[in-house]
Amino acid sequence: MQPFFRQSLPLFRIRGINVRIHWTWFLWAWFRLANRGEGVYSSITWNIAEFLGLFLIILMHEFGHALATRQVGGQAENIVLWPFGGIAFVDAPPRAAAQLWGIAAGPLVNVALLVVLPGLRGLLFDSGLADRMPLDVPVLLSQLIFINKVILIFNILPVYPLDGGQILRSLMWFGLGERRSLAVASAIGLVGAAGLGAYAYWRFQSFYTLFMAYFLGTQSWRAWQFARRPAPMPPDEPMV
Ligand SMILES: [Zn+2]
Repeated sequence: MQPFFRQSLPLFRIRGINVRIHWTWFLWAWFRLANRGEGVYSSITWNIAEFLGLFLIILMHEFGHALATRQVGGQAENIVLWPFGGIAFVDAPPRAAAQLWGIAAGPLVNVALLVVLPGLRGLLFDSGLADRMPLDVPVLLSQLIFINKVILIFNILPVYPLDGGQILRSLMWFGLGERRSLAVASAIGLVGAAGLGAYAYWRFQSFYTLFMAYFLGTQSWRAWQFARRPAPMPPDEPMV
């Protein structure tokens, strides 16, 4: 992941955590906005707001991982945003419970947003504020509520290295130990990535989903090799 890290620009730093952005993110932003199609908004400004809102949700998710990892005594210094979401570079202590909390805290942020975002929309309508705002504001909130749900559902699929796959791995760690739990989770990850790739090709011909499947597959393959090697385990894989 080092070359990947070097290809990103520093954005800002909060609570000792550097937030960086990969150069491909700008290409992706341009592509998405240029191909936004018949939208639900009155102007492109709101499409930009939605795109930034999506990455704000992702950033909060990554901060969930980073802060929880620190809470259990691990290290977390960098978060990189890229077209496929975010990556938190964390190093949690090699114990099942510590790993589990560091991973689960990410999707738990999205679970909290399942309540917070509709609450915000309700407040807007109940207070009468929505009547004095452009219609785009409640539409944007509804879109972000939907986006948050999609992120959560995809993220907790039990396919390593998605959070669902890593949660499954740390639960198995309690019974199977560090290495065998990784071997099982990464094998499931390989099957899941192949399935996702085949589905993306057959159903949508989606280059984006195909690349996602490729990323999951290569990460699972690396993890599988580490799990089966007699040498010591490397530091943790980055969290998505
Ligand atoms: Zn995550």
